Amino acid sequence: MRVFVLLGAPGAGKGTIAAMLVEKCGVRHISSGDLLRAAVRDGGTPAAQAAAEAMRRGALVADDVAGELVAERLRRAAPDDIMLLDGYPRNVAQAKTLEHDLGAIGTGVEAVIWLEVPEAVLMERLAERRVCGKCAAVYHSINLKPRISGVCDRCGGTLVRREDDTPERVANRLEVFHRETEALLVWYEQRKLLRRIKAAPAASEVAESLAKMVKA
Ligand code: ADP
Repeated sequence: MRVFVLLGAPGAGKGTIAAMLVEKCGVRHISSGDLLRAAVRDGGTPAAQAAAEAMRRGALVADDVAGELVAERLRRAAPDDIMLLDGYPRNVAQAKTLEHDLGAIGTGVEAVIWLEVPEAVLMERLAERRVCGKCAAVYHSINLKPRISGVCDRCGGTLVRREDDTPERVANRLEVFHRETEALLVWYEQRKLLRRIKAAPAASEVAESLAKMVKA
């Protein structure tokens, strides 16, 4: 199994680019945010309720809750799968857990792709982001419009604004990102795994250069 990590601030385009890589080179996309949103929808457990509350505030969910959802997906992977982690790890503690879990199955992270996007672009993208309430596909009300307004091209679901995409929650998520995830960049840089990619051009160009890296 090969494992790649996509790192970037909220709005950097991780989900959009990951979906393109699924199409281009058959990677398996594991989005911790999507897994958590599904767990919150399904579960009335105390852990699911605490996760829902943290997500509404734009704070991080407990490391072990996010970690277990991702670990469960990794355990189900086939030996020749290429896994693309999006949103996990998000801090150094999670990166250490991941290193340990992958080490136990004889593998490790091959590369960490850091999507660099200026803050003004992030804010604009999040304000205009719409997601499918059914299949979680991502759209942008100006740059990446669905064929029929308000309707998902892929499954016909209704497009909505994510609950945590309001200006106040976006500000909180960016603050959490600067505090927690930037330390992770240093950690991966020290391990010589970090690859920086300027992600402000079109998502398709970024996906093209990542596809070359994955196919190499
Ligand atoms: P974004 O990258 O735009 O913030 P995500 O869908 O990746 O969107 O995450 C949404 C929310 O889910 C985060 O604000 C956080 O509350 C929670 N979350 C996602 N991944 C993790 C993680 N690895 N650890 C803790 N919380 C997480």
